[in-house]
Amino acid sequence: MNAPASLPNTSAFEMDRAHVLHPWANFGPFEKAGSLVIARGQGAKLWDEQGREYFDAVGGMWCTNIGLGRREMADAIAEQAERLAFANHFVDMTNDPAARLAAKLAELAPGDLNRVHFTTGGSTAVDTAVRVVSYYHHARGNPDKTDIVARENSYHGSTYLTQSVGKRNGDRIEEFRYKTEGIHHLSCPNPYRRPDHMTEAQFCDDLIAEFEALIARVGADKIGGFIAEPIQASGGIIVPPQGYLRRMWEVCKRHDILFIADEVVTAFGRVGHWFAAEDAFGVQPDMITCAKGLTSGYLPLGALILSDRIWAAMADGGHRWFTTGLTYSGHPVSCACALKNIEILEREGLLGNADRVGAYFNTRLKALENLPLVGNVRGQGLMLCVENVANKTTKALLPDEVNESKRISDMAESLGLLVRPIGHLNVMSPPLIITEAEVDFVVDTLEAAIRRVTDDLVREGHRMG
Ligand code: PLP
Repeated sequence: MNAPASLPNTSAFEMDRAHVLHPWANFGPFEKAGSLVIARGQGAKLWDEQGREYFDAVGGMWCTNIGLGRREMADAIAEQAERLAFANHFVDMTNDPAARLAAKLAELAPGDLNRVHFTTGGSTAVDTAVRVVSYYHHARGNPDKTDIVARENSYHGSTYLTQSVGKRNGDRIEEFRYKTEGIHHLSCPNPYRRPDHMTEAQFCDDLIAEFEALIARVGADKIGGFIAEPIQASGGIIVPPQGYLRRMWEVCKRHDILFIADEVVTAFGRVGHWFAAEDAFGVQPDMITCAKGLTSGYLPLGALILSDRIWAAMADGGHRWFTTGLTYSGHPVSCACALKNIEILEREGLLGNADRVGAYFNTRLKALENLPLVGNVRGQGLMLCVENVANKTTKALLPDEVNESKRISDMAESLGLLVRPIGHLNVMSPPLIITEAEVDFVVDTLEAAIRRVTDDLVREGHRMG
């Protein structure tokens, strides 16, 4: 296949276009334009095959926390691959990096979250957590307490079960099927899009009442678990109202509902803490799911961290089997990579950097609310976004087909900056090594991109303000 003259004509570009089905592929545009081939990464910077440089404000996919291209990480991976590249981790076999990483995660996780089940990524960790809910309640004599409560606009992964538990705007399509039985969705706790007549505190009261009403309707004997990202990530950087998560947790405790904190994005420093649920929101979850920043994206790995209390119930009587797990659970090279990653995060004080530079980033980005297209800037730590609107008073969006956030990210890309378009948002989650000078570059470049796209939209007859 020959690429049109304006497209790169490298073999990676061509082979990708001819053979790869990308996650969340949009068939038409992909077949027309193909993919950007990234060839190299160092720190927060990427270079494409043509040698063009980009500042990666997306952090890969919320994951390159320590930054790319670290020699000591490459060495740690190579050494482990040479010593022991793989070992069975089923039933009663283990390896040194998996055991040490489990102990380290138990040390970093809040409260009595001392037990670790390793997976291949975030989806498989969440999938397992949801199944542990029914296991736990069954073991305690409540076999019908299996329903899961999640929220609108949450994202918990891409397996059949986790796509059914999550419910992000735009992801649900009629071509796919979703499990609906035993899964309930509460309102998204988005303060920016709360009903006009409510204060944030009233909105929070309303969300708690909605949860209590659901429990009254369905029955506490049926609802086994509640799952929440402390800050909803790809659903739009939703920082919930003050006190919301803690109050949801208190409702859970009253009704013996397990609280699963999905920290696939928020853990490992993204918002300045090892885990956000307790340190940022005062919640002691029963289970935490994590991945991404666990290895900073150098290798795939996920983990489900569960409480001693859950373990004790599952193990009670000494006769049950935990019949779930993955070939690559406890992969020695991935676990060695995670241990090195945690060592670097600790040694370089990167959680503190995320906190400090994140505060600077949030302040600088907030100023973009003065632009006619920007309705809301929000975030915490190094999770931030800009929401584009057609009308700042009504918060009405531009028609979906205008695709302004994709046009803004394309414009930013042409200026050497990668930001992620999601719906009507432009989202950022840079590596935790980011400096204030780099924040200045990101904000100034994003502003230039938004201004240029706004000018184009005005020329096309769209009205904003
Ligand atoms: N949970 C959350 C909150 C996520 O953001 C993601 C991925 O973005 C997942 C789970 C799924 O993780 P993975 O893509 O590693 O399976």
